[in-house]
Amino acid sequence: MTWLVIGGLVVVLLLAFFIGRRTGTRLALKRVRQYARNPESSDAEADHPGRYRAALIVNPTKADVRRLASTAEAICRFEGWSPPLVLETTLDDSGEGAAVRALDEGVDVVIAAGGDGTIRAVASALAGTSTPMGIVPLGTGNLLARNVDIVLDKTEWALRIALWGRNRYIDVGTAKLAEDGDSHVFTVMTGLGFDAAVMADTNSDLKSRVGWLAYVEAGSRKLAGRPSHVKVTYDNDYRISARVRSVLGGNCGKLQGGLQLLPQAVIDDGMLDVLIVSPKNIGQWVGVLASIVGRRATKGLHTDIRKCQKVVIESKDELDVQLDGDALGRSGYLEMEVMPSALTVRVPTVEQRRQIRAEAWPV
Ligand SMILES: [Mg+2]
Repeated sequence: MTWLVIGGLVVVLLLAFFIGRRTGTRLALKRVRQYARNPESSDAEADHPGRYRAALIVNPTKADVRRLASTAEAICRFEGWSPPLVLETTLDDSGEGAAVRALDEGVDVVIAAGGDGTIRAVASALAGTSTPMGIVPLGTGNLLARNVDIVLDKTEWALRIALWGRNRYIDVGTAKLAEDGDSHVFTVMTGLGFDAAVMADTNSDLKSRVGWLAYVEAGSRKLAGRPSHVKVTYDNDYRISARVRSVLGGNCGKLQGGLQLLPQAVIDDGMLDVLIVSPKNIGQWVGVLASIVGRRATKGLHTDIRKCQKVVIESKDELDVQLDGDALGRSGYLEMEVMPSALTVRVPTVEQRRQIRAEAWPV
């Protein structure tokens, strides 16, 4: 009985401790917002504009733009930055045009707020420049954010990391659907075949309701397809022929749920990890899945991964192509190349990581 009472007390104390911490963060954020609304501080702001200015590029289908903009403005003022330049993505411009405009305005950081599609579009404009990209992950996959350890579901923290985080120089990939075709930037993975067919066929309504499970639903409908004959040429030199379901080139390999699709992939090693998936029936798909879950896809069951700087995939069939989850159409040719250290991304500092773990907003 005594133990039961002691146990109960411990639980109550632990609960009080964690709730207290959470409330502490909330109070701090409330103070940030009050500070931003305070007319005196606004006047002071007008007299002494901040040294730095950020641009915030928001996908309006993923967030309440006014709310996010007011949070960003509050945090910028609190941190001594000028109010941010807020731009929205549209059907015609998924973020690249907005990012070019932000660069023209000479901002110090461009924050992409949206899913992997928005991040990819903003990264396309920033790659090759020295302006860093901040990330506010608002999508289903948020794969780049996962791969550079940006907090998910904590918008205020993601904004703060964008302002005061550490600069990390990462590689980006470029993909072309024809030898003389346009070059498209990707930051995570580009694929030809099964993975792209799944992305193209995923029901977007279902995706907004059940998240990544929508991919599983589409995937299960596509499993029983037939393999395609492809030629894969690595670094203009080594060539293989194979019957495959999917060829995927990745800059980094962490997926949702802690899955590592490309266990050896490093985001800044100047290399692409190219995964070939070649099961011929449902039974062999089980082997593929086991290899991926067991992080043995490098020499797994019906999977193979090779590192290179450039890869060309030629297929007799026209296959679906996806870039960071965006369907790009069908093609019998896909060329991917790495641009080493082409993009600067703001990632959390050691101190920020500690503060996020402790839920302690610095004031
Ligand atoms: Mg790499």
